[in-house]
Amino acid sequence: MNETSTASALDPRTTITVRCPGDGRIVGAVPEMDEAAVAALAGQLRSAQPAWEALGPRGRSVHLLRWLDWLLDNERRILTLVQQETGKSWADASLEMAVAIDVINYFTANGEKFMADRTVKAAGAANKVRRLRVQVRPHQLVGLITPWNGPLASPMMDVVGALVAGAAVLCKPSEVTPLAWTEAVRGWNEEIGAPPVLGCANGAGATGAAVVDQADMVMFTGSVRTGRAIAVRCAQRLIPCSLELGGKDALIVLADADIERAAAGAVWGGMTNSGQACVGVERVYVEAPVYDRFVTLVTEKVAALRQGMDQPGSFACDIGAMVTSAQVDIVADHVADAVAKGARVLTGGHRSPGGNFFEPTVLVDVDHTMTCMREETFGPTLAIMRVSNEDEAIALANDSEYGLSSSLWTRDRARADRLSRRIEAGSVSVNNAVVATFQMPIPMGGWKNSGLGTRFGGAHGVLKYCRQQSVVEERFALKSELLWYPVIPAKARIIAKLTRLMGAHDWRRRLGIGRS
Ligand code: NAD
Repeated sequence: MNETSTASALDPRTTITVRCPGDGRIVGAVPEMDEAAVAALAGQLRSAQPAWEALGPRGRSVHLLRWLDWLLDNERRILTLVQQETGKSWADASLEMAVAIDVINYFTANGEKFMADRTVKAAGAANKVRRLRVQVRPHQLVGLITPWNGPLASPMMDVVGALVAGAAVLCKPSEVTPLAWTEAVRGWNEEIGAPPVLGCANGAGATGAAVVDQADMVMFTGSVRTGRAIAVRCAQRLIPCSLELGGKDALIVLADADIERAAAGAVWGGMTNSGQACVGVERVYVEAPVYDRFVTLVTEKVAALRQGMDQPGSFACDIGAMVTSAQVDIVADHVADAVAKGARVLTGGHRSPGGNFFEPTVLVDVDHTMTCMREETFGPTLAIMRVSNEDEAIALANDSEYGLSSSLWTRDRARADRLSRRIEAGSVSVNNAVVATFQMPIPMGGWKNSGLGTRFGGAHGVLKYCRQQSVVEERFALKSELLWYPVIPAKARIIAKLTRLMGAHDWRRRLGIGRS
């Protein structure tokens, strides 16, 4: 069934209607799933999982690569759904397909290697007669819950590792942006002949909670508040969870940096996806000697940004709308609070008419008493602060309950290396912003309130969806073993003596001389 449909075709009591944030028109609707429907879907996915696991990583990759082909064949249609439900610029929407391509190619190319059995040497003389092996087995059903800022890219970053691992996956996209992902899952189930191990449960928090109650492991991306609630529920159910949560990422510009590049990078890092990126740059600390020039360059570049929802394929705008009007309210509140406490707006600072737009904004004369420096803004703002030296920059960057990612600009590699070790965040991009997040061979994860666990990280990106299973095999199958019953005193004494002889580190203890 194609779940995506026009609103009028569906029962409004159980339907989520989606409006375009750029202009408010209705762009689609999906049926909402209640707890019973989620349980039924979970049951179907579970029953399909053993055959999926039996295919092995190579067999599973065939289906993922077919899915990639189908996504690319339908790219414009799917990215149009992304754009319509988020109000993104076409450029920002297109990045979501780039993420899908990279993640599917990386994990399918490496899945077999990542999941290979590990043969290990036994420890202890008595175990020499045994072969040891660790094999990995997937969690049967992974629950995947995602936010609204990347309707295609966000679930894609995690679903691929779980499918390559051999798990079945029950996804719950954001109720604000369900269209593109519902269509991607329909493609999996109806267009490419893949086994029915990928399900999509649409709905809001209650549906998400039902997914958590059905899953064997939960991968969650979203706010700290929801992440904490999910962690509590997972603890009650004694199942693992991995949480990718909010951020308040700092960017530090040192006096020896390439200021032109740093300014362009800060603008991109702060404004990409209209600032609705967990790893978006929100706070900037600049050493005094280059502060004025940096601020001038950033202000020029931000003022020149073209904002709007451009036509599919046109690439005519730099940034688009914000996904929800509630998020626009948060941005407006942060700017108002900063201005009330003495900050200056150098460009932007207001809502734009005709949709969920907020002007790209530069704030200066900010400090850490202001909300814009403490709470996640998740919008197109850059708040810039002058610092006297690197110690002050690091102290301020670390003065946050968040620790997702960070960015450091300097021409001195040794200095970058030294300072990266003082930053309290899960990743550091040197002379760039945001990029540390999308490196699949290394882990991406938040410190402090920004998360628990990591995504990607090479083999970990698949193994996090697996359980380790140890297999111990006897080399020789004798009729009986020395330690088996009955206990014969003479034999037991010899074993105890031999154990001591081989395990002690000096002759007195080896021979048991002088022991009590
Ligand atoms: P949110 O926490 O409100 O919602 C996220 C998802 O959780 C949605 O699908 C929602 O329906 C679901 N949900 C809500 N209550 C639930 C419950 N009790 N049990 C289970 N599921 C529930 O977040 P949001 O507003 O959609 O997204 C914005 C947040 O996501 C920001 O804080 C942003 O920083 C964060 N984010 C983090 C990353 C990362 O990788 N670290 C990436 C993107 C976004």
